[in-house]
Amino acid sequence: MNPRYNVLFEPVRIGPVTAKNRFYQTPHANGMGYMRPRSATAMRAIKAEGGWGVVCTEYCSVHPTSDDSPFGFLSLWDEDDVRALAKTADAIHAHDSLAGVELWHGGSHTNNRLTREPLIAPSAQPAKYIQPGHARAMDRQDIADFRRWQRDAALRARSAGFDIVYVYASHDYLPFQFLSARTNRRADEYGGSLVNRVRLLREMIEDTRDAVGDKCAVAVRLAVDELHGPAGITADGEGREIVAMLAELPDLWDINLAGSLGNDSRSSRFSAEAFQEDYVGFVKTLTSKPVVGVGRFTSPDTMVSQIRRGILDLIGAARPSIADPFLPRKIADGREDEIRECIGCNICRAANNEGAPLRCTQNPTIGEEWRRGWHPERIAPKGSDSRVLVVGAGPAGLEAALALGQRGYRVSLADSGKEPGGRLLREAALPGLGHWLRVRDYRAHMIGKLANVEIFPASPLTSHDVLEFGADHVVVATGSHWRRDGVGACVEDIGVQAAGRKCLTPDDIFAGAVPQSPVVIYDDDHYAMGGALAERLLGQGFAVTLVTPMPVVSSWTQMTDEQFPVQKRLMELGLRLLLSHRLAGHRDGAADFACVYTGRNTQVECASLILVTGRLPDRALYDSLVAVPGDLQAAGIGTVTRIGDCLAPSSVADAVFAGHRLAREIDLPADGSAVRRERPLP
Ligand code: ADP
Ligand code: SF4
Repeated sequence: MNPRYNVLFEPVRIGPVTAKNRFYQTPHANGMGYMRPRSATAMRAIKAEGGWGVVCTEYCSVHPTSDDSPFGFLSLWDEDDVRALAKTADAIHAHDSLAGVELWHGGSHTNNRLTREPLIAPSAQPAKYIQPGHARAMDRQDIADFRRWQRDAALRARSAGFDIVYVYASHDYLPFQFLSARTNRRADEYGGSLVNRVRLLREMIEDTRDAVGDKCAVAVRLAVDELHGPAGITADGEGREIVAMLAELPDLWDINLAGSLGNDSRSSRFSAEAFQEDYVGFVKTLTSKPVVGVGRFTSPDTMVSQIRRGILDLIGAARPSIADPFLPRKIADGREDEIRECIGCNICRAANNEGAPLRCTQNPTIGEEWRRGWHPERIAPKGSDSRVLVVGAGPAGLEAALALGQRGYRVSLADSGKEPGGRLLREAALPGLGHWLRVRDYRAHMIGKLANVEIFPASPLTSHDVLEFGADHVVVATGSHWRRDGVGACVEDIGVQAAGRKCLTPDDIFAGAVPQSPVVIYDDDHYAMGGALAERLLGQGFAVTLVTPMPVVSSWTQMTDEQFPVQKRLMELGLRLLLSHRLAGHRDGAADFACVYTGRNTQVECASLILVTGRLPDRALYDSLVAVPGDLQAAGIGTVTRIGDCLAPSSVADAVFAGHRLAREIDLPADGSAVRRERPLP
């Protein structure tokens, strides 16, 4: 290990327990919840194996009045829950790590769709998830009950074997709703002055300590700024005062931002590594207790700097631990160059927002530990001496080549481009998306260490070339291109008027085409491209109107917690918007759009129309290869498989996953892929 990083491996005392190092996997949702306990346990165990000194669960409900169905959440409501979570704690302990559990009550910020319990909150208020329901105001008995639920859940957590038990006053959940004057309008001793609003949190810490403090550390997760300005809690206002009031009461401060989960896990488009420092930096000046915080930390030098400058005692990580569960181990082994750095794309957050099991762009094995038996650092040795030719070095081809190479196969990776990366080279050049190139960089770097994988850049292959090359297996990962016919997610047919005219696509812009002002971007893709392209063109001085059939810009980025900042930034840059309209026609100097509700037409001045709609696979090479099976046979080619965007265009995460899966399964029989499904058994 580089001695510069020794400080990261110092033990840290947290109340009655000691973390073996400063690497702290903070609680993070993973979409598995109480319904998929084996999947969650296997995932957390691998984090512990990867060297995280503390590994926490996701949010864990203390009572049926806090039920986040249909999203995945844990519960400690009864002894069955204790038995299930004991397995998680045991699996974490097996690697000498501490196990933390994030006890949670959502208050007005939950659904209760399973339990159908009325929502509760400090004051009567509409449900935070937009729905017809409201939360009722808690009376004194409700508060006493709530304190008992926290205490009982803490006792269950202790009997399940957890070392760190949370009091969770962040992310707009119930204890935070009491703290903030925005949501707490009570007139009794739990409302009004800050001392009163802090009362419940103080009592929860005392109750939890009293119940389990002999054996377990009590952590407080506090949002010190809810990013609502002076109307709410701010880091230089009440956030600071709360920490000062309770400074020595918990055993650990886990500090972050609230407002929404998205503020805490901002994407790389809107934040740099260590971005929370400006908000949380003061906490250590007010307490002698250890402080953990997050900030998409992937660089060991940044981590050391946080410790040395007295900002944090423990390096918190959710996303960096998802992208690379072995991050601490790699630093310990002096292999920091092998860290699979989080790119800050928030696809992991999308899984949570969709109620789906965790997935990650950088780490295709996350969430697959139990159901497919995949390990992020270990892969079965090759099943034969086959040679594999991978055509296309985008995310799918790069990951396939790397994982096949790690299995020991002889791999040739060819790409027509001068350098590997495929779509990443183009997309990472868009404003805010530079970190996406890490997907390429990590893989190209790791392939560089393998003698059995060769990269051939500037090699556009024809079917003739492939046949002549004569590999045992050919993997076609030649990507996709943007459609010109206007077919998109919402609109299957834009009609001849629009499709017949010359429109530009993102591919044209990347190839150097210069549009003319005023530009209209028609976005029926709804992920990053439309908005990012608009941002680039606005930055270059073009007048841009973005038209989309959806009611907001880049609507799918709601899943990555980016939609609000995307639209805010574009509007501030002067983007004109026409929402809820579909393309209806395109003529000289103008385009026509029909309202998706009324069909009424709006004409928009337009010198260049850019279609960001669907994509089509680049399948010409694949088609010509499989067209003549006899030629394949004669060339000794056993299989030709297309993967990634060349099979079905999707996210970079899906392309990486496809490449990894191909590598794992290349020597399995055609139907040999085994995915276990967790299901409750009677
Ligand atoms: P994916 O996301 O599925 O990995 P990309 O579009 O990112 O797809 O990457 C596909 C890569 O394949 C691009 O770099 C492209 O230049 C390359 N490619 C496409 N056709 C050929 C070909 N016939 N020979 C070599 N490389 C090709
Ligand atoms: Fe990081 Fe993206 Fe993976 Fe999330 S999905 S951990 S943001 S690389």
